[in-house]
Amino acid sequence: MNFYRGCQHDCIYCDGRSETYQVQGEFGTDIIVKINALELLEKELKKPILLRQIRHAYLMLGGGVGDSYQPLEKTYQLTKRSLKLLLDKNIPIHLLTKSTLIERDLDLIKEIQTKSPVIVSMSFSSTNDVISKQFEPGVPQPSERLEVLRTIKKTGIPIGMFLLPVIPFITDTVDVLKESIQQAKNINVDFIIFGGMTLKEGRQKHHFYQTLQSYKPSLLVNYEQIYRKDRWGNAISSYYQSLNETFQMIASTYGIPKRIPPALFSHVLTENDRVIVILDHIDYFLKLKGKRSSYGFAANSISKLQTSLSEMLDSLKAIPGVGPVTEKLIREILYTGTSTYYERLLTS
Ligand code: SF4
Repeated sequence: MNFYRGCQHDCIYCDGRSETYQVQGEFGTDIIVKINALELLEKELKKPILLRQIRHAYLMLGGGVGDSYQPLEKTYQLTKRSLKLLLDKNIPIHLLTKSTLIERDLDLIKEIQTKSPVIVSMSFSSTNDVISKQFEPGVPQPSERLEVLRTIKKTGIPIGMFLLPVIPFITDTVDVLKESIQQAKNINVDFIIFGGMTLKEGRQKHHFYQTLQSYKPSLLVNYEQIYRKDRWGNAISSYYQSLNETFQMIASTYGIPKRIPPALFSHVLTENDRVIVILDHIDYFLKLKGKRSSYGFAANSISKLQTSLSEMLDSLKAIPGVGPVTEKLIREILYTGTSTYYERLLTS
């Protein structure tokens, strides 16, 4: 859920600027404010079927094309007022922002947490203040953001770092990555979600290259080598592969979970969804290590079931993609809410 289109944070790499998302005008200044959003939300929250469904998930307040805590939020308070509406509805909430303004709503978030699970995450391209100033001109410095996360964690609310997108040849180097992950460890994050940058042809690439030209023009040639006009702005797969290997190598020495850990979602999701998420994550981790996996296929098959898994314990192997190993794993997840194999992969 998000309330703004366009973002005053104006991160140079933001893919919300791409024509794909059809945000009109100048991305960092012409902001569309969804002033009727709360009225619509109030109506939606009266639907019992919808409520039943979203109570078994985290409602995410974030925004790919506009941060929910960008400066305009001080005036419009749409995020704050939406939290007030959600307070009595027992809906798990995950807030994702790049802004320290979230601290304004901490009392409210704590109050929500007394009724239902809450996670607060912040995204970083690195924790380096100097680089951030160049590439995230409208965002509070990473050091300030880390302090706010630390404060939130002290109140007992789980926190996450979205270390994404890391900027090729600038924040994806071993030294900068190590520093960012070390900082995450220092504030005791519950998880890190990692990812590389996309660069779509058109406005996004043009805008990014203008800054790169003044920051370090010699890098332009490196960018041309890895971004080859892919429709979705993806870099070549060998770049992502080596980036992921570097991240895995560094992160494993710190033992921080590289996905939201089951302890934070097992009691929220339905049992089928719990199994789907864990199998899907195992699939992700194995493929990152260059291994073959049918766990994703099994997860997809389970997502199509109309019956809960505990009602079909005798016929789990009839599910496409589920062999003896996966069957054992599913039983473990159903009985314990997690899997020892998965927990090892999360931090190793
Ligand atoms: S905070 Fe997020 S949405 Fe806003 S400009 Fe930066 S990356 Fe884009």
